Amino acid sequence: MKRVLLKLSGEALAGDKKSGFDEATCMGVARQVKQLVDDGVQVAIVTGGGNFWRGRTSGTIDRVKADQIGMLATVMNCIYVSDIFRYAGMKTEVFTPFVCGAFTTLFSKDAALDALGEGKVIFFAGGTGHPYFSTDTGAVLRAIEIEADAMLLAKAIDGIYDSDPKVNPAAKKYDEISIQEVIDKKLMAVDLTASILCLEHKMPMLVFGLNKENSIVETMSGTFTGTKVTV
Ligand code: UDP
Repeated sequence: MKRVLLKLSGEALAGDKKSGFDEATCMGVARQVKQLVDDGVQVAIVTGGGNFWRGRTSGTIDRVKADQIGMLATVMNCIYVSDIFRYAGMKTEVFTPFVCGAFTTLFSKDAALDALGEGKVIFFAGGTGHPYFSTDTGAVLRAIEIEADAMLLAKAIDGIYDSDPKVNPAAKKYDEISIQEVIDKKLMAVDLTASILCLEHKMPMLVFGLNKENSIVETMSGTFTGTKVTV
């Protein structure tokens, strides 16, 4: 794989703290991504926002406004992780689908591919730019747009199971499963909108746990122990 989109869930960025950032976790991600970049892989990153805010569970305020706050949370996440990456020796650029003044660059496919060509790790912050969507959907959309070979899905859990392993200790992890089966069985590796996009545009996914030491590098090197989602 020469070009990948790595989706980091917001919770995964928070480590054990569950909210905000865990610097050690983010440094671990940076160290691994640097290894991929040094090996010539082009890497784009989408972060979730759940470590700060989730529109759908915000309660009293209007959903559109709640989702705008959620999208801004992902901008904060990307600015933070991007700067950790710079500290680790990489060049980066953060793109958003809406104008954030001098903080980010407005997304276009051409600008994103140019940045990748310059050896930068690029970040897609702000999701799709629209309420009622998720960063899962934003991630698949951008992976398709930049013609990534696959989407790497780094989660707090180490793959896709037939039931919730926190509730059912006998839950079985899939080594490989088709996206159609993920949809039919409502396994929700990514939400339904994102799953349908993957199906329609044939975007494979590799799902794995971010907590496991070196899991991003392993995913790219063939010693992968998560779940491969085929299309
Ligand atoms: N969000 C949005 N549109 C997008 C992407 C994200 O409105 O295209 C908002 C939404 O409120 C979401 C929050 O940003 O809850 C954080 O994104 P994430 O996908 O991490 O949310 P989660 O799936 O954890 O709710």
